[in-house]
Amino acid sequence: MTFEPRRAWIQPIRFGIQVLVLVGCMIGLITSKQVSNWLLPTTLVVGVLFCGWVCPLGSIQDWLFWFGRKLKLPVLRMPAGVQRYLQLTRYALYLLTLLNITVNCLHGTRHVGKLLRGDTVGAAALGVLIAFLLVSLFFKRPFCNYACVGGARRGLLSVLRLIGIRRDEDTCVHCNQCTTACPMNIDVANQTFVRHPNCIGCLTCLTTCPKQALTFKPQPIRKK
Ligand code: SF4
Ligand code: SF4
Repeated sequence: MTFEPRRAWIQPIRFGIQVLVLVGCMIGLITSKQVSNWLLPTTLVVGVLFCGWVCPLGSIQDWLFWFGRKLKLPVLRMPAGVQRYLQLTRYALYLLTLLNITVNCLHGTRHVGKLLRGDTVGAAALGVLIAFLLVSLFFKRPFCNYACVGGARRGLLSVLRLIGIRRDEDTCVHCNQCTTACPMNIDVANQTFVRHPNCIGCLTCLTTCPKQALTFKPQPIRKK
């Protein structure tokens, strides 16, 4: 198995950026909302990079899942048939916010931001946040998959993206490793271009592929 050296650096760079943003939020240098607003226009071009590279709650879930592997806890994965419907919950929650119905205790990104600044949050919000973080020890990014309203909003904007994960059918050996690695449960192995609204642009699929069949490029032009 060979990796291009530049690919091997992708995940350490992502980790470094996640740590820098988390520290920046903790010392009050920036807020994740500011970075989210700065990155919003890029969503139309490269998809949702904020969730995969910046969001402190996403980063904490990534690290807890990694920690769960160190503790040798079992890995849980949602069955594909259930995921198909359950992944819609965050869009349903987003719709509720558009109707001015706010499920306060589920606004995890906002609450984690408050906690990082040392503010107190309500007992219900704290309980929900802790529950999601505990599940993250076994399951990749549960909050992002099912409860993040901000992720849903950014995801819907990203479906028109010009650049995304592209799979080369000629190089792919259908080992399914990209699909298994995807924290958002996207079936990368069966798509030629990932334009899924749940994609968080983490590039985990790309760095996992043993055949380098995945690239981050514009969608191929269909041949007639
Ligand atoms: S990991 Fe690479 S080779 Fe395996 S199915 Fe995915 S794209 Fe194909
Ligand atoms: S498809 Fe790839 S880039 Fe998108 S969320 Fe899944 S692993 Fe990350």
